[in-house]
Amino acid sequence: MTTTDTQTQKQTAAPTQWVYFFGDGKADGTGRMRDILGGKGAGIAEMTNAGIPVPPGYTITTGACRQFFEAGGRLLDSIVEEEERALQRLERFLGRRLGDPENPLLVSVRSGSPVSMPGMMDTVLNLGLNDQTVDGLARKSKNPRFAYDSYRRFIQMFSDVVLGVPRSIFEHELTLAKKRARSKDDTGLEAEQLKDLVERFKRIVRREIGADFPQDPREQLARSRDAVFRSWNGERAMHYRRLNGIPETLGTAVTVQAMVFGNLGPNSATGVGFTRDPATGEPRFYGEYLLNAQGEDVVAGIRTPLSIERMELELPEAYAQLREITSRLERHYRDVQDFEFTVEEGRLFMLQTRRGERTGQAALRIAVDMVEEGLLTKREAIERVEPDHLDQVLHPVLDPVERRKHEILAKGLPASPGAASGVIVFTSEEAVRRGHKERVILVRAETSPDDIAGMNSARGILTATGGMTSHAAVVARGMGKCCIVGCTALSIDERARVLKVGGRALKEGSFLSLDGSTGEVLLGDAPTSDSEVVRVLTGKLKPERAPLYQRFELLMKWCDEVRRLRVRANADVPSDARTARYLGAEGIGLCRTEHMFFAEDRIPHVVTMILNAQEARQAKLLIERIKGDLAEAARSEKPRLRKELAAAQGKGGEPIRAFETALKKLLPLQRSDFRGLFLAMEGCPVTIRTLDPPLHEFLPKREQIQRELAALRGARTNDARKKRLLATLTRVEELHEFNPMLGFRGCRLGILHPEITRMQARAIFEAAASVIRSGKRVMPEIMIPLVGDPKELALQRAEVEAVATEVMGRLKVEFPYTIGTMIEVPRAAILAGEIAEHADFFSFGTNDLTQLTFGYSRDDSGRFLPEYVRTGILPQDPFVSIDVKGVGTLVRSATLEGRRKKPGLKVGVCGEHGGDAASIALFEDAGLDYVSCSPFRVPLARLAAARSALKRT
Ligand code: ADP
Ligand code: MG
Ligand code: MG
Repeated sequence: MTTTDTQTQKQTAAPTQWVYFFGDGKADGTGRMRDILGGKGAGIAEMTNAGIPVPPGYTITTGACRQFFEAGGRLLDSIVEEEERALQRLERFLGRRLGDPENPLLVSVRSGSPVSMPGMMDTVLNLGLNDQTVDGLARKSKNPRFAYDSYRRFIQMFSDVVLGVPRSIFEHELTLAKKRARSKDDTGLEAEQLKDLVERFKRIVRREIGADFPQDPREQLARSRDAVFRSWNGERAMHYRRLNGIPETLGTAVTVQAMVFGNLGPNSATGVGFTRDPATGEPRFYGEYLLNAQGEDVVAGIRTPLSIERMELELPEAYAQLREITSRLERHYRDVQDFEFTVEEGRLFMLQTRRGERTGQAALRIAVDMVEEGLLTKREAIERVEPDHLDQVLHPVLDPVERRKHEILAKGLPASPGAASGVIVFTSEEAVRRGHKERVILVRAETSPDDIAGMNSARGILTATGGMTSHAAVVARGMGKCCIVGCTALSIDERARVLKVGGRALKEGSFLSLDGSTGEVLLGDAPTSDSEVVRVLTGKLKPERAPLYQRFELLMKWCDEVRRLRVRANADVPSDARTARYLGAEGIGLCRTEHMFFAEDRIPHVVTMILNAQEARQAKLLIERIKGDLAEAARSEKPRLRKELAAAQGKGGEPIRAFETALKKLLPLQRSDFRGLFLAMEGCPVTIRTLDPPLHEFLPKREQIQRELAALRGARTNDARKKRLLATLTRVEELHEFNPMLGFRGCRLGILHPEITRMQARAIFEAAASVIRSGKRVMPEIMIPLVGDPKELALQRAEVEAVATEVMGRLKVEFPYTIGTMIEVPRAAILAGEIAEHADFFSFGTNDLTQLTFGYSRDDSGRFLPEYVRTGILPQDPFVSIDVKGVGTLVRSATLEGRRKKPGLKVGVCGEHGGDAASIALFEDAGLDYVSCSPFRVPLARLAAARSALKRT
């Protein structure tokens, strides 16, 4: 929240100023007072002070808005009095009075909050008109048509905003009037016809609210002002704030401003524009205008507006002045401006200027161009490009013009940026089947690990439930694939293969388009274009022919010059590692070995390994024990023990052999995986995590085995397949856990089955040795997951070290390596000092650390977390952006403690938070060495690291 106004008050001890006047070349406020005056009010004050022609008026502060709500929806008398004085000043200044039947002052009542919320709140134009003043205006302007046009507009807007009479009723009446006049446009209506329309409008009002349209201009003003304040808490505005994380407490300012008229005739106009193209960033004047029109006609689509270039011919002087003023504004603010203007009989007035919103591509181009133009320093350019902008640059986008032709059916959460269009399918199998030859969009209630293949085949993913960290969201971001989740408006009938949304029933095979950057779901097949940067990085486009790519590279270079944090990527396979490297990754911060286990050629061995692990372990323990007993036994006891040993060896032989054979089969496969990874990341550190997930994740689902067994009902009991299925079923049931997340997983697996850790270590070291032999450099880092006690790490470390020594000796190659641990169990963070004694590095697994610190299961938090965030119990979803107070404190203290025990301990992060800009700021601050994130977020992380480094200086 911003408290600038109350601070100012404290400092100067003067009574709070609630109303700020502007006009005659000077304003009470300035452009820096956005918090108090709102963006619009601050921009108007700044322009007035700069001598730019702006109609005069006054702004009532956002503080007054807060007072308004505190007083139960009433403006305090003292503020009302202050406003009255400002109004009188305005009247004196212009020599016109509100409500004067001879020479009436007309004003607009405009909203404006500190954060731009385009179109979310209300505006009233032409206020001050009534049955008398309209005639005064007609006489004074000698233009009755204009006077009645203004009056009908006023009735329309006031009724909509203040009286709650739907706009559409008036629109309908206007359409009828145009029909009667045989005119296509509203400009074709004559004075008499407009006068008649006004009468009809007034009758509508009487019918709808049971009272006459208010004729007293002061009442009109007070009610409009209050309605604008109230629109801050309108449904639209609240929804927008929720979606964009804008604090409720900001409030809106109200600006009351003398009207200037773009509807006075063919020498008058109204328009909007940007100083540069907001879609591409190209330095060209960009905008639209309408002759003889007012206010929002340009954006309302009432008539088709003209491109601003035409204005040079039609209104040359005003155009020249507009160019001059807007480029002055751009230089003054040193940023692209989005402006609104009106031309009254050839005279230009500026009505608004603000920072122009832009696409990622435009943001990049504008920042780099402005450095070249000498408007910005490199540092400022880095501060101007938002991390999200970079993310957009790496993903396909919907064609900005074409997309307008597609109906927006629904809006979900923008889980993974990019754009996709294609035919919808409802199952992963179908996505795989059709994905070969068609563009498909996978539509699911939500996704699970079973859907990976389908997600991989799809262009985009759309789910009805789930949050920003749901399975679909996380996996799609990892794949760099467009994804929208939590789109509650969808109703999916998987059986019938129908999607119901926005009053339509779409069959499988219908076209949908997704905008993963906004969360919008569009009907039909909207064209997309690939990211230029990615096309260059994948060799499909030459860098010299890719201006966007060149700017991307330049900005990244500037970032790399200032950042301190290193950036690595989470990558499990060589292709991801290569992408990551193209995008600037300086190593791999997390390779999840289990992902290698899922491959088709491995899963049978993995299953055999799991099916036999437990029995093999028991058999081995038994054999060990008997052997021990045997060594110490009395002679008479020995024959019995020998017999026991033989029996144990006989019975245990099979599972032990099966277990070890499976490991042997997996060894070369893992070795070649690691070799590929090392080569792709040549010379950079590669952190490989030993097996982490609960074993049952690798086994088929219980229901599936039962289904297969049912199908085999006729078969003989000793049928090999049936036997296998039965054994698997038993094992699956044995492995069932009530809380798998807290169960037999992580290093607990390696401690009970050290053979698995040893196999993985051997694969890693043999791969390292072979890479070194071929004359290349490697930096393997073995990472032990889910450690909660120093002894766990000590034990696993001993296993890994023994293998390293063995491999070096056997292959006669020396290779560097380190052994570290994830810090993801709160106890590990608390015992960080003791754990550091056995660790060469720490890597915070912030996903699990967040789950376990809060006691929230990430996969189940969708039920309550959104509500927690909405009601402000939590400032944001802690799985998206790190929980500064809790988890952040653990990260800081564990880092300090770890380094106190072991100076120079390397510390990084490998959770999803490693790719989140706000979290990166905390990691920078905590002095971490690196962050690791999914490959497509690497550029974003480089930028965020640079921005956080700059903040510290
Ligand atoms: P929004 O925040 O929705 O853009 P504005 O307050 O900017 O609403 O008003 C919308 C439009 O109304 C402006 O772009 C401008 O064209 C017109 N307008 C507002 N105030 C005046 C005025 N005093 N004179 C002429 N036109 C005005
Ligand atoms: Mg508006
Ligand atoms: Mg505006």
